[in-house]
Amino acid sequence: MSKKKVAVIGAGPAGITAAYELAKAGVEVHVYEAGPRVGGLAQTIELWGQKVDIGPHRFFSNDTRVNKLWLEVAGKDYKMVDRLTRIYYKKKFFYYPLKPFDALFKLGIGTATVCMASYMKERVSPTKPDGSFETWVTSRFGKKLYSIFFKTYTEKLWGIPCHELDADFAAQRIKKLSLWEAVKNAVVGGKGNKHKTLVDQFAYPTGGTGMIYERMEQFVNANGGKVILNSPVKRVLTQNGGAIAVELENGSTEKYDETISSMPFSLMVSRLPDVPDTIREKVNALTYRNTIIVFLNVEAKNLFPDNWLYVHASDLQMGRITNFRNWVPEINCGKDSCIIAIEYWCYNEDQMWNDSNEKLIELGTQELLKTGLIGNAKISDGFVYKIPRCYPVYSRGYKDNLKPVEDYLTTLKNLHVIGRYGAFKYNNQDHSILMGLMAAENIVKGTNHNLWEINTDYEDYQEKSTITATGLSSE
Ligand SMILES: Cc1cc2nc3c(=O)[nH]c(=O)nc-3n(C[C@H](O)[C@H](O)[C@H](O)COP(=O)(O)OP(=O)(O)OC[C@H]3O[C@@H](n4cnc5c(N)ncnc54)[C@H](O)[C@@H]3O)c2cc1C
Repeated sequence: MSKKKVAVIGAGPAGITAAYELAKAGVEVHVYEAGPRVGGLAQTIELWGQKVDIGPHRFFSNDTRVNKLWLEVAGKDYKMVDRLTRIYYKKKFFYYPLKPFDALFKLGIGTATVCMASYMKERVSPTKPDGSFETWVTSRFGKKLYSIFFKTYTEKLWGIPCHELDADFAAQRIKKLSLWEAVKNAVVGGKGNKHKTLVDQFAYPTGGTGMIYERMEQFVNANGGKVILNSPVKRVLTQNGGAIAVELENGSTEKYDETISSMPFSLMVSRLPDVPDTIREKVNALTYRNTIIVFLNVEAKNLFPDNWLYVHASDLQMGRITNFRNWVPEINCGKDSCIIAIEYWCYNEDQMWNDSNEKLIELGTQELLKTGLIGNAKISDGFVYKIPRCYPVYSRGYKDNLKPVEDYLTTLKNLHVIGRYGAFKYNNQDHSILMGLMAAENIVKGTNHNLWEINTDYEDYQEKSTITATGLSSE
């Protein structure tokens, strides 16, 4: 039993995992969550009598620590979902992960030949890397495939040209994706490329993605901790080079031995008392991209089979379309309609961010109809969910701003910085869960895990496994 009292800021996957682990260890933990429910970006909401996530949420990890924890919380309340995702481009649907023959056939002989020729050119004389996403992808796939399958979508997502995007993004997300391996598997079969963007099944909770975090919340509340909703933290207070308390937006303050923060990195750092101006400037130079999700209730059952689709077509502003009917039947709650979620990405200053919900629903409706995916089906309702600071932008050179801030934070005692916008990391749930786990372990066991390394080097963890229908399977 630890006598420590710990504050956790934010009840997304990172924060609530940390709290769950601390509560398990008997630590008194108080979680302050700005919003009305836990789960952060990975929460599940009720809409039109169904359950939906905030965009498509496929949980996947091959880290045994993360998988064990997920299964401990999910119990048997999950199902394996067969992944089906395609790319919508030039009015055609290409399988993603790319199936080489499908892709080349749909592109047509002319384009396919140019793709193969530009791929071979890179094998003979690779494009010199300059640290950008563009050269990273081009050197692996060739200019033509890059321009068809990576450029448009990536630029929609990040809102900057690919030559201004740091190669880190590619390194994190498509590191081992190899065209050669994909071709080889298509021709001679085999287990397929094992890279994480290519898994064809994933575990999904029967109560929606957020079920995991709701259960963690219940555990914390039942085991001496408190999850306090609708309670935004204004700032972390420091004294003698260490965190000593949190101050809430409502003006109250409470003292803590340790503070774990998953609130937006820039806000947390720039509001710290005594933060040097140079650090404040660096942190304020980091940028985030916002997401707008337009949910539409479509009065039909079998529209299209995909879990989600990537929209590469440049005449559509939308980036991704999710069909929640194709996840697990439980979240559909026996309704006859499908909830479709359409994602748009923008910055604060873009017109779209300030558009009315009616206008955004109209945009989503028109664009969805244009894809032909829903035929003449009736759209009976619309709902808009706006997410500020959804994606930390890895613009080229972002590390020159990030690293000094990380170094500064490392000097502050009793402050643990975790999470997606919390630590300025392009995290999936598994990375944030691991950050929460490791932060709790540093507090409870006095370990010295370097949290900044997670989602950078952590793939090298030795004990690998995947979640299957019957539990954990070692790799
Ligand atoms: C559209 C979309 C699709 C995604 N798809 C996938 C996927 O397929 N697979 C996957 O694994 N991941 C996916 N993710 C990523 C996943 O949602 C995140 O990695 C994960 O939620 C990050 O958890 P976190 O705790 O780090 O941050 P968050 O989920 O952002 O949680 C942070 C929490 O802090 C709270 N907070 C903020 N400021 C304050 C404050 N001042 N005081 C108190 N609380 C505060 C917020 O309200 C929030 O609840 C997706 C994300 C999006 C947006």
